[in-house]
Amino acid sequence: MAHPDPDGYDPQSVERKWQRRWEERGTNHVNLAGAAHPFFNLMMFPYPSAEGLHVGNVFAFVGADIQGRFHRLRGLDVFEPLGFDAFGIHSENFALKVGTHPAELIPRNIARFRSQLQRIGLMADWRYEVQTTDPRYYKWTQWIFLQLFRAGLAVKRRAAVNWCPACKTVLANEQVIGGFCERHPDVRVEQRMLDQWFFTITGYAQRLLDHLKTADWSHSTRTIQSNWIGRSEGAELVFETPGGKRITVFTTRPDTVFGATYLVLAPEHPFVADLTTAEQRAAVAAYRRKVAAMDLVSRKVGDKSKSGVFTGSYARNPATGQAIPIWIADYVLMEYGTGAIMAVPGHDERDFEFARQLSLPIVRVVAGPGQDAATPLAAAEPDVPEGRLVNSPGYDGLPWEEAKRRITAALTARGLGQAVVNYRLHDWCISRQRYWGPPIPIIYCDSCGTVGVPEKDLPVVLPALEDFRPDDSGVSPLARAESWYRVPCPKCGKTARRETDVSDTFLDSAWYFLRYPSADRDDVPFDPALTRKWLPVASYIGGNEHAVLHLMYSRFITMALKDLGHVPFEEPFSRFRAHGTIVKDGAKMSKSRGNVVNPDAYVERWGADTFRMYLMFLGPYQEGGDFRDAGISGIRRFLDKVWLLVGAGAQGQGGTGKAAPELVRMMHRTIQRVTEDTASLSYNTAIAAMMEYVNALREGAPTRALLEPLPVLLAPYAPHFAEECWERLRHGGSVMEARWPSFDPALALAEEVEVVVQVNGKVRGRLHLPRGTDRAAAMKAALADQTVRKFTDGKEPKKVVFVPDRLVNIVV
Ligand SMILES: [Zn+2]
Ligand SMILES: [Zn+2]
Repeated sequence: MAHPDPDGYDPQSVERKWQRRWEERGTNHVNLAGAAHPFFNLMMFPYPSAEGLHVGNVFAFVGADIQGRFHRLRGLDVFEPLGFDAFGIHSENFALKVGTHPAELIPRNIARFRSQLQRIGLMADWRYEVQTTDPRYYKWTQWIFLQLFRAGLAVKRRAAVNWCPACKTVLANEQVIGGFCERHPDVRVEQRMLDQWFFTITGYAQRLLDHLKTADWSHSTRTIQSNWIGRSEGAELVFETPGGKRITVFTTRPDTVFGATYLVLAPEHPFVADLTTAEQRAAVAAYRRKVAAMDLVSRKVGDKSKSGVFTGSYARNPATGQAIPIWIADYVLMEYGTGAIMAVPGHDERDFEFARQLSLPIVRVVAGPGQDAATPLAAAEPDVPEGRLVNSPGYDGLPWEEAKRRITAALTARGLGQAVVNYRLHDWCISRQRYWGPPIPIIYCDSCGTVGVPEKDLPVVLPALEDFRPDDSGVSPLARAESWYRVPCPKCGKTARRETDVSDTFLDSAWYFLRYPSADRDDVPFDPALTRKWLPVASYIGGNEHAVLHLMYSRFITMALKDLGHVPFEEPFSRFRAHGTIVKDGAKMSKSRGNVVNPDAYVERWGADTFRMYLMFLGPYQEGGDFRDAGISGIRRFLDKVWLLVGAGAQGQGGTGKAAPELVRMMHRTIQRVTEDTASLSYNTAIAAMMEYVNALREGAPTRALLEPLPVLLAPYAPHFAEECWERLRHGGSVMEARWPSFDPALALAEEVEVVVQVNGKVRGRLHLPRGTDRAAAMKAALADQTVRKFTDGKEPKKVVFVPDRLVNIVV
């Protein structure tokens, strides 16, 4: 290390100084009640793991902090709160692993996270911190459960669920990866039947989908969420059995009903027992046992072609009138549609494979141009372009879309069908048979049934349990806290029992943004006036890994609260932007690879500002980039250059005379670019623009006026550094009280010309340079051009021909 320059930039002391000042002066505090132009700047609150802040967290938060600071400098009152999402199975499993109670572990982790977050210089107003594990918070999580319960949106029902034998709890489908637990990649997930609390989010499917169309959200996030909701239009058709059973199937292609040659029921379908003939009983029973040991996800995505058993019974195809066999197979789920499908092997790949394996009939019912009813099917033809119906008496020759409508109408008229819309979205299972969560506020009484805990008795405090280990019974550890479990019924006073499940951690995070402005209030979940003023959230930035769980659940809870009259809006986040991910040296960061970037070490060595800017410079923020240690010194050199310029400017060496017109134009152009790029989250190009400007200033004679905008432009990116520069330019207060510089669009208009670059007389490139660029600058630009370099690299130019604003010809 070189000997430190006493006047040089020392990030550690600058950052310490300004963090102390911000704290003393309340720089980051916002007057919630008095704000004239509220701007709620939200970032996804972290789960406080024992490892401490992850570099991915820092990347996300800094990108959001830049938005917050930028909007504040543009004159808005920015509220940037933070909190901790500390309940849940991750915390609990970790606590079990290290043998420390989560109630002890979590406060420690939170303290560490908070100091790390403060260290990176976020503009957070810590007076409004929330912790989901705080009874003052989860009192209201329970309150929300009760509102939904009373409205009939929280229901208890027995359902097949994914069960991880290692976690000893239920998993959402999203937590099952290829048949294995997301937390236990070597543990196969099983299927169990349990009584569970569900929120009936499926009733909101269409609204959730409709609003997405116009939401100011990242396109990628909207797409993921739309696909997850998975709307499909089709029909329910009825296949009757000789015994009088009506088997209802859902199909998106009722036009192919004439090609339905067999039915497949879910093994759990309630008709299976009655439909199974004596000869088939043993085979059906064995198959159902096998399926019961499988998880739901691998049933959906696994090998669908070979598994299945004939029940021995038949049903009548409502279109052909023919008797077709009824099978059961694992790929049909009770949870989706009606638990039964009609199989059309001619036009469905899965049905085709299944039919071929089991020698069931395959019939063509749709033919494209050049095909007819007799054209053989070598494989399923699911989407026949310009398909028309064949082998479908009464409908032959009709385009399939029209046939779909007509056949649905005809079967509806006969009481054997109806048009329906189906969704892939499932109801949200809220129950967790675990310890570390808010107890679900329900009491079971033998006389009164299921009773909600009266609001005055909230919170239902999670009892301190020494042994909170889950067991294999499927019953929550809370059942072992006998004195807590037995409770007088709120209605009749007789001894009753508490619900022992805790709620899903995604419920904690589905409403935290509503709580922030009212975090200091114990009498209400959210103050009506503050809620009206600050919500919906103006800007939300987070990862797309939360597109289908957190973001959808938050939207659902907000809609439900709107319907119940608790909030005046339906959508919680006016704008959502998904950030990208960063990798290290081209590879995904992971503990096993040993390439995890520890933010502390970098902040320690380089300072928070350099680290912040480097993360933002890695690539487009919404795509991410590759973290390479070699790159970070470039940002530090840039800040050193600014430091020197500001130092000279402060001492009056910057010149107070008239600024060169070229530099003035560039200043306006830079302000414009940084303004627009920061607004659109193109942080890397905003930084690049500042770098170009600083290089130009160093080569020219910067006046004070040319330097003034720099600290303000830098403030969102390198806030401590910007404060110090602002002060060195003899401004009082905080740079955050400054005004974002404005630009003159006419001046900012780049007056550029195209300059042709030749190497040995051949055109090798074209440069866009400001009019009037001199010989030296034009040469420098020409030699920096990638293509030109291929032809000149390593060789000294023998001769250069320069025609201003037109041509650089290099002879090598
Ligand atoms: Zn697990
Ligand atoms: Zn009772």
